[in-house]
Amino acid sequence: VNDVVVVGAGVIGLLAARELAAAGAGVVVLDRSRPARESSWAGGGILSPLYPWRYPAPVNRLAQWSQGIYRELCDSLRDSSGIDPEWIPSGMLVVDIDDRESIERWAAAFSMRFEYIDTRTVRELEPELGLEPDLALWLPEVAQVRNPRLVKALLESLQRTGVEIRPDSPVQGWRTSGDRVTAVQTPSGELHADNFVAASGAWTAGVLESTGLRLPFQPVRGQMLLFRGEPDRVRRISLYRGRYVIPRRDGRVLVGSTLEFVGFDKHTTDEALADLRQSAFELVPALVELPMERHWAGLRPGSPDGVPMIGPHPALTNLYICTGHFRNGVVLGPASARLLADQLLGRPPILDTSPYLADKFMKS
Ligand SMILES: Cc1cc2nc3c(=O)[nH]c(=O)nc-3n(C[C@H](O)[C@H](O)[C@H](O)COP(=O)(O)OP(=O)(O)OC[C@H]3O[C@@H](n4cnc5c(N)ncnc54)[C@H](O)[C@@H]3O)c2cc1C
Repeated sequence: VNDVVVVGAGVIGLLAARELAAAGAGVVVLDRSRPARESSWAGGGILSPLYPWRYPAPVNRLAQWSQGIYRELCDSLRDSSGIDPEWIPSGMLVVDIDDRESIERWAAAFSMRFEYIDTRTVRELEPELGLEPDLALWLPEVAQVRNPRLVKALLESLQRTGVEIRPDSPVQGWRTSGDRVTAVQTPSGELHADNFVAASGAWTAGVLESTGLRLPFQPVRGQMLLFRGEPDRVRRISLYRGRYVIPRRDGRVLVGSTLEFVGFDKHTTDEALADLRQSAFELVPALVELPMERHWAGLRPGSPDGVPMIGPHPALTNLYICTGHFRNGVVLGPASARLLADQLLGRPPILDTSPYLADKFMKS
C-alpha cells in the first residue's frame, strides 16, 4: 500500500508530492495523459496575482508566503534536477492604476514594496514600452519563473527522490469503505493508499463528482502568444488593461492572456490571436518586428473568487483536495502544497486553513 496517491501531475500535484515526500511519505502521482502539460505548462509564470489588491486576503496570504520562498525553491530544484526554472526578479510595471487607496492598503497589509513613478522613470525602467502614462505603479519585488521549466525540474527532481509519476493513468473513480477511500480506479486497475490527494486542475470537479461533491469550479481558457526576440531588449513584466508581456531570459517574450468561459475546449482562435497581437503591439511596439513563434491555450482551474480549495473532502476523511487556483496556481502553489501537506500530515498549518476548506465553497 502506498502512503499517498496524488491525482494530477500539474504544478499543484507535483508540489504537494514534493512536500509529502520530503516528510518521508511514499508518493505515487497519477496523470491522465502526459504529466505537466496542461495549465501549469501553458501559464505565464508571473509570481504575483495581476492587480493583487483586487483579490481577497486568502489569495494574497498564499501569494506572500510563496513569494518568500520561491527563489530558494528554484535554486533547490535546479540543483536537484539540473533544470533551471529561471526565477528572475523582473519587477512588474502596472500601467493602468485604478484605486490608489486599495493599492496602498494591500501593500501595507502584505508588506509589498511599491512606487508610483512618472513617465520618465517608466521609460528608464522599460524603454520599449509603447505607452506614456503620467503615473504608473512599479512593483520591484515581483518575479517570474519559466513555468514549463519549473514543472520539468519538479518532475525530474521528484523522480530522482523516488516519487513515482505515472502518465496515461486517468482516475475514473474511488473505491470507498465507510468514510474512507481505499483505492483509486484506473483503466489498468486499482491503486491502494492510506491517503489521496485530488489535484487535477480544471478537471477536479469531474474527478470528484462520484464522491457526491458538487464543486463550484469551472475551466477558464487562456490563450497566449510567444515572440522570439533578443535577450534584454524587453526587460520588465508590464501590465495594461488585463494584458501583459513577460520577457524571458533568452529574449523570448510572452503576451497574455484571454479569459474565456468555453468549457473544456482548448483550441486557439483567430479572434484571440488578433486581440492579443493588438495588445502586444500597444504595450511593446518593437514586437511588431519580431517573429511570432507560437500561440496556445490552457484551461485554468477557475474558482469563484480565485480562492483555492485546500483541505479534506467533507465526507471522506483520507481524501484531500487542492484545486481552484484559477489565474494564480504558479505563485500560490508552494504555499497551497505546504498547507495541504500540513493538514494531511497533522502538522501545525502555515496559515489559518478556514478560508480554504470545502464547507466555504459549498455555501457559496
Ligand atoms: C494562459 C494562462 C496564463 C497563466 N498565467 C499564470 C501566471 O502568470 N502566474 C500564475 O501563478 N498562474 C498562471 N496561470 C494559472 C496556472 O497556470 C494554474 O492556476 C495552475 O497551473 C494550476 O495548476 P494545477 O496543477 O491545478 O492544474 P494543471 O496544470 O492543469 O494540472 C492538472 C493535471 O491533472 C491531470 N488530470 C486531470 N484529470 C485527471 C484524472 N482524471 N486522472 C489523473 N490526472 C488527471 C491533468 O492531465 C493535468 O496534468 C495561467 C494559466 C493560463 C492558462
